[in-house]
Amino acid sequence: MARVIVTGGAGFIGSHLCDRLIADGHDVLCLDNFYTGRKVNIAHHLGNSAFELVRHDVIEPILLEGDLVYHLACPASPVHYQFNPVKTIKTNVMGTINMLGLCKRIKAKFLLASTSEVYGDPLEHPQSESYWGNVNPIGPRSCYDEGKRVAETLVESYRNENGVDTTIVRIFNTYGPRMLFDDGRVVSNFIIQALKGQDITIYGDGSQTRSFCYIDDLVDGLISAMDKEGFHGPVNLGNPTEMTIKSLAELVIELTGSRSKLVYRKLPEDDPARRRPDINLAKKELGWQPGVELKDGLMKTINDFEERLKQEG
Ligand code: NAD
Ligand code: UDP
Repeated sequence: MARVIVTGGAGFIGSHLCDRLIADGHDVLCLDNFYTGRKVNIAHHLGNSAFELVRHDVIEPILLEGDLVYHLACPASPVHYQFNPVKTIKTNVMGTINMLGLCKRIKAKFLLASTSEVYGDPLEHPQSESYWGNVNPIGPRSCYDEGKRVAETLVESYRNENGVDTTIVRIFNTYGPRMLFDDGRVVSNFIIQALKGQDITIYGDGSQTRSFCYIDDLVDGLISAMDKEGFHGPVNLGNPTEMTIKSLAELVIELTGSRSKLVYRKLPEDDPARRRPDINLAKKELGWQPGVELKDGLMKTINDFEERLKQEG
């Protein structure tokens, strides 16, 4: 049994991680400012003595005790991280310094949830960890991708200079139950539009690609990375099955049986054209690879959205 701190624990990925850690018998302390997280995501643990919830913004220091820190606090959807770019930078820089400083004091192991966005609009395909990326430092996505790049730098500095035990995972597009209806990311947008019979909004011509990983696979990967002694990453975690955004829209229409039509909207500035993880390092070092087929994961997500639509209107 470990005492585990999960920052961003009330969010999409964080709440699934809390579920798994509690199921595995650990004590979990969830830290969240509820910017994009929701109490309902972790409400089923309230009252369990193995679970604690603290409303806290990671840009402020905090004194806690624990053995492991999963640092996920940061909005992940472009819509949310661009709403207040300076706040996103503060979360990534000051938030990461605070959590690394905490780990230094209490000698806890630290995992950074970094992102495929550190590769920017990649010139190398698929993306392996040795690729340095093609990132616009002053574009609309830079608060997030440059924020995560400096967060990675901080992790390496605290490891090399302060002896903090750390690891970095670079998460590629992940989807599943509990994504917010208004999250703004592509899977949740397409599912909600299909279920409501609204037009499916494809940005650009839909030829850009992404590779989608189901949440349960991703959580397995996070835990494998944290548990692997002596391995510090960075390591890609994602599903290498690549598809165009247009074919994702068609698949969502097929699986929901929707009559929604595809409509085309302006492609956002700096939207990466292609993205697919090279996961050879994760396979070799962590013995990890995703197992959930896209159709199966999408059906589970669609069922969850339908259920919540009924409950929440
Ligand atoms: P999310 O927006 O659902 O969760 C983020 C959580 O962090 C929310 O609960 C939010 O309230 C909390 N948070 C944000 N700023 C905070 C702050 N200053 N202090 C305390 N809490 C704060 O997003 P997610 O998809 O669950 O992503 C979780 C992490 O994984 C993020 O760090 C994100 O960058 C990373 N990631 C996610 C994806 C993906 O596809 N979902 C891909 C790459 C990286
Ligand atoms: N996208 C889209 N329609 C939407 C939302 C997103 O076509 O309603 C596109 C977006 O332009 C991008 C891809 O889907 O090319 C993935 O977008 P998302 O915001 O999910 O993630 P990211 O761009 O960070 O990979």
